[in-house]
Amino acid sequence: VIWRRTGRPEEPSPPDLLQHLPVGVVLVDREDVVRTANATAERLRLVRDRQLAPIELRRLVRAVRRVGDLQVVEVELPNADESLPVRATGRPLPDRDVLLVVEDLTELRRVEQVRRDFVANVSHELKTPVGALILLAEAVREAAGDPKAVDHFVERMQAETRRLTKLVDDVISLSRLQTGVPPGVARLPVYALIDAAGQQVALAAEARDVRIDTNVPDSLAVTGREAELVVAVKNLLDNAVHYSPPGSTVRVTAERDGDNVRVTVADTGPGIAPIDQQRVFERFYRADPARARTSGGSGLGLAIVKHVVTNHGGSVSVDSALGEGSTFTIRLPAAEAPARVDA
Ligand code: ADP
Repeated sequence: VIWRRTGRPEEPSPPDLLQHLPVGVVLVDREDVVRTANATAERLRLVRDRQLAPIELRRLVRAVRRVGDLQVVEVELPNADESLPVRATGRPLPDRDVLLVVEDLTELRRVEQVRRDFVANVSHELKTPVGALILLAEAVREAAGDPKAVDHFVERMQAETRRLTKLVDDVISLSRLQTGVPPGVARLPVYALIDAAGQQVALAAEARDVRIDTNVPDSLAVTGREAELVVAVKNLLDNAVHYSPPGSTVRVTAERDGDNVRVTVADTGPGIAPIDQQRVFERFYRADPARARTSGGSGLGLAIVKHVVTNHGGSVSVDSALGEGSTFTIRLPAAEAPARVDA
């Protein structure tokens, strides 16, 4: 028992520990009077006038007594405005007492919903390029005698294939990131991450006549997984280049900000309206769907950035005004300088 072993006065006592469990715990005696209920049980409104409030839980208690064994139910408890999904476990105790453990499933249900939406979105997004490829293949066959037309359709097939590949790659990296493996301790110089990302967008930048200007001190470093952090910076650069007007400059800076390293990527593109600024980090959200459809973006780029930096203990935000460009900022915990080894 931890509190005995350490014996420090500020350690919580056993009843406090019970109070702070994230599940509701209720002890009901043989007369159906609630003997003990922890804070979570109160918050979930399981108890009123020393009785179990939800009829579903009273039924569970009776079932436990009848069967004389552990009983588990998943039910929606009617609550003030919306119902509360819970998993309730009842365990018989001596003297016909019953111990109830009630787990709030709201967050779990929300995650399940997000996952279902994601699958539906992916299927929908896959349909567009696949449908285009089917039509283009038919067009190629019909244009068989016309080499110029064939060339044109094949080029479009290649574009749709690239789009499909990007979507599939992004879906795969997103689902990998969601497992939330701790980022490890490799020390990564920030300039190297930005250089590597810059190289990956160099061709696209050249094609659009956009300059990438970086100002990154050598001394800054973060810890984590290099490949993921490079992808995060690359996705920001990709967007910045993509939305920049030809002939303009994308500026990348990095600096120390307290315990963090702050990396910013600024463009002079169309900007993002305030109502879209939080939502652009959601999967498949596009501020301008029509433009995105022609641009071949997967709609997952910023969601990937957000997952990477969150998994690394950091954050990402955007500062933008319509017509004035956008500045994306990544904050990551700074790696301390390696300890000096004196000879
Ligand atoms: P996409 O693959 O569509 O670019 P992202 O997740 O990278 O997906 O971006 C989501 C949306 O955010 C884009 O569709 C676009 O509307 C908006 N956006 C992202 N970066 C910028 C930027 N630098 N300037 C203007 N809009 C941007």
